[in-house]
Amino acid sequence: MREDTRRWIEADKAHCWHPFTPQAAWEAGEPLVLVRGEGAWLWDSEGRKYLDGNSSIWTNIHGHNHPALNEALTRQLTEVAHVSYLGFANPRASELAARLSGLFPPGTLERVFFSDDGSTAIECAMKMAIQYRQLTGEPERTGFIAFDQAYHGDTLGAASLGGVSRFHDRFRKHGATVTFVSGMEALRELPWEAVKGCAAVVIEPLMQGVNEMRPWPAGMLRELREWCDAHDVHLMLDEVMTGFGRTGKMFACLHEEVTPDYLCVAKGITGGYLPMAATLTTGHVYEAFLGEDDRAFYYGHSYTANPLGCALALASLDIFEAEKTLENLQPKIARMAELLAGLKAESRFVHEIRQCGFVAGIELRQADGTRFPVQLQTGSKVCLAAREHGLLTRPVRDTIVLMPPLSISTAELVHAVDAISAAINAVSTGQAE
Ligand code: PMP
Repeated sequence: MREDTRRWIEADKAHCWHPFTPQAAWEAGEPLVLVRGEGAWLWDSEGRKYLDGNSSIWTNIHGHNHPALNEALTRQLTEVAHVSYLGFANPRASELAARLSGLFPPGTLERVFFSDDGSTAIECAMKMAIQYRQLTGEPERTGFIAFDQAYHGDTLGAASLGGVSRFHDRFRKHGATVTFVSGMEALRELPWEAVKGCAAVVIEPLMQGVNEMRPWPAGMLRELREWCDAHDVHLMLDEVMTGFGRTGKMFACLHEEVTPDYLCVAKGITGGYLPMAATLTTGHVYEAFLGEDDRAFYYGHSYTANPLGCALALASLDIFEAEKTLENLQPKIARMAELLAGLKAESRFVHEIRQCGFVAGIELRQADGTRFPVQLQTGSKVCLAAREHGLLTRPVRDTIVLMPPLSISTAELVHAVDAISAAINAVSTGQAE
């Protein structure tokens, strides 16, 4: 091991604390130290190279070290790195808000509120929804409706919308009042008593990510919009994972031509370079905040509308046009489906492939169709084995996530699926049956 690597690992083990990580096991292991990226590839500090199979936790869009993103960032640095958005405007934020709003049908999501990451975009939408009701004479409507197994982030408010028991139950009583439903049928069965105190319903459109990449039935989003209209409940879409091309269109809601009242985006907004997020809303919601009395929206952060993040987000949108990212993605989505169908056909441990656009979950089960016991950590073992074949990704339980940068080549995609196949073989010959 190189001297630098040893030093970094020692400092990590002595002082760092990683998200969602059992630290005792972490300290006993030997982490990869990632030092460099180029396109869809990452390098560790020992010089080994891996495909970025989950786009660096679902953020990267156009690849690493992209010249146009680098250029936008360095150009902005020569102007200013950060200025207050409290009391001031800045050019990149103005340009970006107009650009983002322009990605939706005219007259729909006209207003953009910037924040820092997926959780704060959700937090912002929750507070907007609550304050909107206060301003429109329904202050008692402070509750939310969310879906079982949902994941909307880790700050207390966003976590209270989460339906994954292991992550969320321990913090639940400290958050918002939330009614959980399993799907449209359960939502329709809710008595008015349960609905009347709700400000909004929140959903990850098209597909739940942390819930092992589980797609919703086709047409559900439109049905949900109709239900919201009929019950005067706002629709909040969490496009933190699905936004910026992941599902094959710029946003998941465009597949069903649905306009939400609040749309939360983060992860891919800067192409995966810097933390940044936005909550978009309608002119109708915004107008409730206009008036002479105390109608300011009480929300904000020090780095709101950071110019570096905004410059990157603008450059990322330019790349979508210059590189015809979405057009070029369509055959890759089809190729991914073919490759994964092949993987399923060749391995009896691949139980189900769940693909939505350029996001896929590969669910592993025992050959008899039952789940592997949790303590075997099959998903984690397969992802660890995949490293030996040049692929980095993380599972959600025993579902292997395949979500590479949209810019990945078809040959690289083949490499990724081959690595998963080899990793499943390696693990199953040691452990399954
Ligand atoms: N919503 C969804 C659908 C997500 O997948 C995530 C992150 N995985 C979040 C919200 C939270 O985003 P962040 O981690 O940037 O706070």
